[in-house]
Amino acid sequence: MRQKLVVGNWKMHGNAADNRLRLQALVAGCPAVGNVGIAVCVPFPYLAQAQSLLAATPVAWGAQTLSEHAQGAFTGEVSVAMLADFGCRYVIVGHSERRTLYGETDPLVAAKFVAAHAGGLVPILCVGETLAQRDAGETVQVVTAQLDAVLDLAGASCFSKAVVAYEPVWAIGTGRTASPSQAQEVHAAIRARLAEHDPAIASAVQILYGGSVKAQSAGEIFGQADIDGGLVGGASLVMDEFLAICQAANR
Ligand code: PEP
Repeated sequence: MRQKLVVGNWKMHGNAADNRLRLQALVAGCPAVGNVGIAVCVPFPYLAQAQSLLAATPVAWGAQTLSEHAQGAFTGEVSVAMLADFGCRYVIVGHSERRTLYGETDPLVAAKFVAAHAGGLVPILCVGETLAQRDAGETVQVVTAQLDAVLDLAGASCFSKAVVAYEPVWAIGTGRTASPSQAQEVHAAIRARLAEHDPAIASAVQILYGGSVKAQSAGEIFGQADIDGGLVGGASLVMDEFLAICQAANR
């Protein structure tokens, strides 16, 4: 039985004062959630704050991207060892905003996944199709190709310490959510692809859904057989809503 996991992606929002209040509210509310893993991925400058407020609580924290390089002359980049220095458990890899706005290709995403894994963090690998790709009937093909790029470089064994997030691009920040059956179909395809390499790892890996998840929609989505929780953007900034989403995973 896979534990449910709900991860907040705060993106480039917040400031030290707002984040403190959010993190304190999260810590205060998380005991009521029950047996659900909870994490927040904060902007780099707030990792120390997350570490100081979340250490010794059940809430984990992480970053939203990392460098594929271990160290060196890469101005502005942040390595996995630096994230580990701040106690990160998770790092998001290949979010569609990174792919679209910063030109992250499948090979680069795979290299970042490998770097995260090698540094002892749990990569949260994001995959997902655009609306045009869905309309063209290419969803599973696109998602499989994104997954294969990582499988080819990292190998299936790395997925024993990784999370996959299916995030249809057309549902991120748009208020449009994949229907539970649309999401389940893709989650099952992801798990089946992993099972071709390693059935045990495939059945254990947590596959999260992301794309305009709200408390109201979360229960039905998280109730699908292959959906193990959520990667939540906008709604993770409002703690009552985020905690309600976490609670919806505890059923
Ligand atoms: C995300 O950023 O990963 C995301 C799913 O955002 P939202 O929940 O706002 O659609």
